[in-house]
Amino acid sequence: MTIQGIISRAVKRLELEGKLLTPDFYAEAFCKEADKAGMNVQDCQHVGKLTKTLNKEFQKELTQYRIKTMAELSRFLISKINRTNPTQCTQTLEAQSIFLKRILQAIGVLHNKEASELAKKSIELLNSNPSVSQIEQFRQLWINFLTLYDDTFLNKLKVLGDIDANDLKKTVENLNLSVSSSEKLASSMELSKISSLLISSLVPSIASSVNEQIASLSQKIRENPSLLDSVSVAEEIKAAISLRIALDKESVTEMIRSLDGVLDKLSLRLIDMIESSDSSTIEIQKIKKELESYNTESISNFKVAHKKLFTIAVALEENTQILSKDLKEHSNEVKMLSKKIELLEDELAKAKEESKEDFLTKLYNKRALDEFLSIKEAEFGRYGHNFSIVFFDIDHFKAVNDTFGHEAGDAVLSAFAQILKKECRSVDVVGRFGGEEFMAILSETDTKGGVIFAEKVRQHVQKARFMYKGERIAVTVSSGVSERKKHASVQNVVNSADEYLYKAKKDGRNQVAYK
Ligand code: GH3
Ligand code: MG
Ligand code: MG
Repeated sequence: MTIQGIISRAVKRLELEGKLLTPDFYAEAFCKEADKAGMNVQDCQHVGKLTKTLNKEFQKELTQYRIKTMAELSRFLISKINRTNPTQCTQTLEAQSIFLKRILQAIGVLHNKEASELAKKSIELLNSNPSVSQIEQFRQLWINFLTLYDDTFLNKLKVLGDIDANDLKKTVENLNLSVSSSEKLASSMELSKISSLLISSLVPSIASSVNEQIASLSQKIRENPSLLDSVSVAEEIKAAISLRIALDKESVTEMIRSLDGVLDKLSLRLIDMIESSDSSTIEIQKIKKELESYNTESISNFKVAHKKLFTIAVALEENTQILSKDLKEHSNEVKMLSKKIELLEDELAKAKEESKEDFLTKLYNKRALDEFLSIKEAEFGRYGHNFSIVFFDIDHFKAVNDTFGHEAGDAVLSAFAQILKKECRSVDVVGRFGGEEFMAILSETDTKGGVIFAEKVRQHVQKARFMYKGERIAVTVSSGVSERKKHASVQNVVNSADEYLYKAKKDGRNQVAYK
């Protein structure tokens, strides 16, 4: 076959396929025919040659997609480059598909019969999961539309007014139409305005589900606003409105029901809290009873839910007020008590300091003895009143404790104190110097007198029957005597009496020592 033969077959092929004689289409058809005739044309080999340079996977894909022309190959390679990952690719494809549909919808409303029909068919095609060849066929139809599109028809309107080929709306508005037709137009425009208002009012505002019935009625009115004049449609609209209200009501009821559940849980929790708190004031009990009564009611109305919430808020407020008041009062009480304790502690310490009495024997204690000594010393200094100091120390007292116990020891000390008290004169001072040591300060008394007193005490003790829990405890006492006149200071007298006491112990105990 000659080249001429292939050329004429290629042209015929294009006619049969309904394609225009563009350079690309022609080249494609020519190569197909050359291939069919077994002719090896250099220009048709480009795709094949390039395919061989690609990896096997790509080559397989190229065969699957039946890529024949350079344009197709370029598109394939570009899409490969763009596909960084499959998700992105799918997302991009989806976005493109939606984008394409919107453009087609836009074309559909642009008042061109062929374009609208083609757009409608194209949307149907996209929705039906088309094959590549089907898309290809439609692409061809759009190319044909673009190539054949002729807007010279607009010129026919020139007699009626100005023509603006780029703005059909403006062109129509500029037309000098008769009054009656313009009125008609105005009223239909009114109707379409009302229809869009009506449609938007039919859509439930709270309920999210759009009911089928409402949707189809809206569609009907949108397509033909003049239907608004008809009685049957009016009835349909009424029904749709009540349906819309019902849907909204249903939603509100559902919302309140869920709110109710939360409120029940909240009030139960509050009752629990009130019950577990140990304060049981009348106020709290009142709130509790009120809350309990709400729990037994089943609520599906907003007023009751509101009342419930309000009660809970009041209960919480009052409860916290009572609690904080309690807390304040108690903290004040605690503060007052701790202050009182502090005061009492101070008083106790002071009393201890001021006390002159020995807690066990009820005689004077060491502090009182020291005070009396200084008074006696002052009297001696001023008036020369002499006085004697007598020290007593119970013999082997440790043994009493060890044998009979500490309590027995205490009893012996108390009994000895009674003897001392009994034997002394009212002007004498007797006290516990410490442990089992006692001191007597005898006014206007010299050593001789002191010894007589000490001896009386010693003998009394020796004879006394110290009994503890039915047992007799043998007790003796040693004593040391010294008088003021024979010494330079009161301290020397005390030391001297102590030294004689030590001597009495050393010499065999149960005796009075002196000089
Ligand atoms: P001495 O004949 O040498 O005085 O021998 P003693 O055991 O009496 O003397 P020492 O000083 O060794 O022991 C005194 C004991 O007195 C030791 C102490 O536990 C006891 N004592 C001191 N005060 C009290 C008291 O208030 N009650 C009792 N039960 N025992 C006391
Ligand atoms: Mg002693
Ligand atoms: Mg002793």
